[in-house]
Amino acid sequence: MKPRVFRTKPLPKAQWEQVNFSQGKVSGFDLARYQGSTILGVGAGGIGSNVACALAWKGPCVIGLMDDDSVEERNLPHQQFVKRDIGKNKAVALGRRLSRECLFETKIICWPYRFQELLEEGVSLEHCDVIVCGVDNNPTRVAVAKYGLTHSIPVVHAAVSRDANQLYCAIQESGNACFGCMFPHALNDESYPCNLPGIVDVLQVLAGFVVYAVDTVLCDRHREWNLRSVFLDGSVPDACLSIERRADCPLCSHLKSVGGKE
Ligand SMILES: [Zn+2]
Repeated sequence: MKPRVFRTKPLPKAQWEQVNFSQGKVSGFDLARYQGSTILGVGAGGIGSNVACALAWKGPCVIGLMDDDSVEERNLPHQQFVKRDIGKNKAVALGRRLSRECLFETKIICWPYRFQELLEEGVSLEHCDVIVCGVDNNPTRVAVAKYGLTHSIPVVHAAVSRDANQLYCAIQESGNACFGCMFPHALNDESYPCNLPGIVDVLQVLAGFVVYAVDTVLCDRHREWNLRSVFLDGSVPDACLSIERRADCPLCSHLKSVGGKE
């Protein structure tokens, strides 16, 4: 199960200060932290591809991508692929694209497999600093949540509702609520939905929340929530929540405290 590895052609270091000039002025953002960080993206489709393109500009040391799916015509209006990517594996096609767009020094590792397949094959994913879970099914979300808990890795979960009207971004980290605490009903859902709707607007709004969430995990940007939920049509007010751990959570209640990287 060898991954495909892409190395980027970064701008000369003499230009980095200028490239980072504006984002470096944002309170808490720290390029040096990004340059020391490994980010793992589970899913390289509607959510994962839009998130990865924004994260790549910020300059992480390593981006890991995984997806067993191939690019289809219907993906092109809302995922970060182009016509010549049709038929190619999503993780590899996305990695190739990012390798051309990265500004700083970044190594891109692409696995054309599902998260669970990598674990079954014993591939070690432990050395990452944050996992972004942007898949379309609950079994994988649960598997990623468990992996994050076991290995003390923060996980940013991101999802869009079936009608493309609602999004949520949930952050599972050190001692706080896990995915199971936040979405107990998802734990018994074994379904793998297919042919879901997909549209770029809700995905790019969500990608913004996710990339900001990664900043708050890796750097010191301020955040007062672990769950955001937005309905694009305004039928339900935006929710900005701090969900507490649940004593009866099947995923994390056996852990004394959910470890962090202290
Ligand atoms: Zn929990």
